[in-house]
Amino acid sequence: MLFNFDTSGDTPKHTCTARRDGVWVVFSCPLCPGFERRMNIQTGVMRVKPGAHPQVLHQGSFTPVGLENSYSLLN
Ligand SMILES: [Zn+2]
Repeated sequence: MLFNFDTSGDTPKHTCTARRDGVWVVFSCPLCPGFERRMNIQTGVMRVKPGAHPQVLHQGSFTPVGLENSYSLLN
């Protein structure tokens, strides 16, 4: 029996949703309860709650209204 895996596609990826919470941009994952990654847009500090699936790659982006910078997430 032959199994042919595409190893480059093995790592699951989730696309996060982003919202603004004061000076924080909060990324959360609809597929991972408890996952949260927040970035302070004034200091650049990032805080992470790994959630239920820490092995999953999370990506997302957020563009604040009225600000020129955009913030992206890719781990
Ligand atoms: Zn996820």
